[in-house]
Amino acid sequence: MATARFWRDNPSRYNLKAVRCGNCGKVFFPPRAVCSVCHRKSIGKMECMSLKGEGELISFSVVHDAPSQFEIHKPYVVAIVRMDEGVMLTSQLIDVDPKEVRIGMRVRTTLRKVGEDGPAGVIYYGYKFAPVRA
Ligand SMILES: [Zn+2]
Repeated sequence: MATARFWRDNPSRYNLKAVRCGNCGKVFFPPRAVCSVCHRKSIGKMECMSLKGEGELISFSVVHDAPSQFEIHKPYVVAIVRMDEGVMLTSQLIDVDPKEVRIGMRVRTTLRKVGEDGPAGVIYYGYKFAPVRA
């Protein structure tokens, strides 16, 4: 990932900044200027909001054969989550045994290191998912 783009997107990624269309109510993450449903009717009506960070596991995959930079994490779980606000996010699901992952389980976002550029390079942070434990 290009570093400049990564840093420019940081407020959105760290705080789960999203927008809600004031016309139809659809939520977008990352934020966008115009609703993809309403187009012109949404101009000037996109409202900033933050995702609460909780959602439901819709689908997942257990990765056994990882790219070299993720080798130490394997096997790991990549999850697709429908956030309570309706948007779908994809990220790693952590703090759980891959055998215990179930469709429909409640998860929440947590800020974690997601990568780095070389041994002395920039460390990237971003959201991952962890199970919500009762
Ligand atoms: Zn809309």
